[in-house]
Amino acid sequence: MADDSIAVVDLDRCQPDRCNYECANYCPPNRTGKECITLRGEDTEAGDPDQIRISEEICLGETCGICVQKCPFDAIEIRNLPAELSDDPVHRYGENAFALYGLPLPEPGRVTGILGPNGIGKSTAVHALAGELVPNLGDHAADADWDRVLDRYRGTELQNYLKRLIAGDVTVSRKPQYVDRIPDQFSGRTRELLERTDERGDLDRIVDRLGIDPVMEQPIESISGGELQRVAIAAALAREADFYFLDEITPYLDISQRMTVARLIKELAEDENRSMLVVEHDLAILDLLTDSLHVAYGQPGAFGVITDPKSVRNGINEYLKGYLENENMRIRPSRIEFEEHAPRTSSTGNPLVDYPDLYKSYGEGEFELTVEGGTVYESEVLGIVGPNGIGKSTLAKLFAGRLEPDEGDLDFRLDIAYKPQYVEIDQPMRVDAFLSSITDDFGTSFWNTEVAQPLQLERIMEQNLTDLSGGERQRVAIAACLSEEADLYLLDEPSAHLDVDQRVQATTAIRRYAENHDATVMVIDHDIYMIDLLSDRLMVFDGEPAVRGHASRPQEMRAGMNDFLSDLEVTFRRDERTSRPRINKPGSQKDRQQKRDGEYYYA
Ligand code: ADP
Ligand code: ADP
Ligand code: SF4
Repeated sequence: MADDSIAVVDLDRCQPDRCNYECANYCPPNRTGKECITLRGEDTEAGDPDQIRISEEICLGETCGICVQKCPFDAIEIRNLPAELSDDPVHRYGENAFALYGLPLPEPGRVTGILGPNGIGKSTAVHALAGELVPNLGDHAADADWDRVLDRYRGTELQNYLKRLIAGDVTVSRKPQYVDRIPDQFSGRTRELLERTDERGDLDRIVDRLGIDPVMEQPIESISGGELQRVAIAAALAREADFYFLDEITPYLDISQRMTVARLIKELAEDENRSMLVVEHDLAILDLLTDSLHVAYGQPGAFGVITDPKSVRNGINEYLKGYLENENMRIRPSRIEFEEHAPRTSSTGNPLVDYPDLYKSYGEGEFELTVEGGTVYESEVLGIVGPNGIGKSTLAKLFAGRLEPDEGDLDFRLDIAYKPQYVEIDQPMRVDAFLSSITDDFGTSFWNTEVAQPLQLERIMEQNLTDLSGGERQRVAIAACLSEEADLYLLDEPSAHLDVDQRVQATTAIRRYAENHDATVMVIDHDIYMIDLLSDRLMVFDGEPAVRGHASRPQEMRAGMNDFLSDLEVTFRRDERTSRPRINKPGSQKDRQQKRDGEYYYA
């Protein structure tokens, strides 16, 4: 008996009419006549009578796991729960369903962050804090009862919050994670969407700060993802609420937009005494924005634990280290490390292309791009940084021969595999069919190790492209791009909607791919940690978005970061314990000193 383990059956995957109950046939307790895996029968709240249930009392736990291996549809998850989890769950969705442990604490006047993977119960927690879900404390058969919840949290700050919530004194405003879905739910102009949220009379100022003015009269379905993200943030912040929940604020935004959003959120907390709860995977922004941090860990889809609040610095450091100190909990086998000094100063590969100075204009009064000539090497990962709308994809089209430069000759034409910033895959096709149509390597052990595993594709292979979440779609799109035969792989914002661990794994996959294939990879991203972990060298774009852009010659990391960050007037210091880069407070002593020294990143 393993009472510290959890058995989760995904009822969308369990298909007893197609499997012959392999799980039950092989389950060791079942084979000795015990009723460990049984049929649900007519009287369960969820699932078909023929689907299975697993007794967590009888199950031998993760070390057995035979049914997990036997199930042809990956419907079963058996996990040992950390011994440190002494309490019952806060909520369990049903028998053999996801269990959530711990709740975050929204605090007036403060920005509280949650750091952790997708699928770990963050939205479940927010449903509870918004009063839309009465936590059942693990007893899914019990009637909803707030008094039991209050009892559980007696004497804690959360109890005060919950009391006000139950009394109807807490109003909630939220920004959803996947802004791409907004046009499905709303049709009309941006102005119409935003005006109905203007409950605090602050909309005009927010619109101005976020630079949304140019799209106010445009239909929502015609605006870009980056614009949609800012509109959604404006809509959430314009409302009158006590508790604001923002599920990811950075996808599709460039760094200065990210910092503006962070400032707006902080001001609303501090000046208006509101509680802000933010889920975010861009660690530099999370660090800058939040006053305290809950780390979320567990097994996505099976169980999630939300820790008590930590200081932001400790929370991020412990997360990167993979070890939570107060909880005495290892959440990852290895630590994520940053190099303190500018790492690789030169590339070792052969030149892929030498290109001269280039000039391209889209016509009189239209956007124009100047490019400083340079060399791109094989086997290198070239980071590309700069604002949105500054000419990055224009340069890719010049390299691909899809556009001709007005000045400068390109005597090559590269095959470019391109992952766009906004991933739109909407064929009604399964992931495995889609990927095997791109590469003959699909399914080989090499491809599995290099691409499928690090991008966590195994569990989604049989799903339809149209049913994927934003993060899943991103991972499939990265895999599709890397699976193509090409001279140059160009990935535009691969970090969007990936959680921190997925970003690190995607980084490893991309780097390893470049090295093993003598491939050249260019990665455009606005997550400075991802750029740092990925890049051998940097190409910096500056100028005025939508008007004129300038691309620097590829430079070594230190010079590139200085070039880029001096434009933004942002400096980073190093965390003493982990060497992790942290954004300096503008005007602080370190900020001023580093600006004087011209050392913006590797100080
Ligand atoms: P996050 O916000 O961290 O991505 P969620 O709180 O949305 O995670 O979901 C956590 C887990 O709970 C997911 O595996 C999801 O499948 C499961 N889940 C969410 N809602 C329900 C529900 N109504 N019934 C059963 N399982 C659910
Ligand atoms: P980035 O990739 O840095 O976001 P792009 O290269 O896509 O930037 O675009 C730079 C600018 O050029 C944008 O303002 C965009 O609207 C404009 N642009 C892109 N393609 C065309 C085109 N075919 N005709 C006119 N303007 C264009
Ligand atoms: Fe049976 Fe549990 Fe082993 Fe699955 S993990 S086969 S339910 S004992």
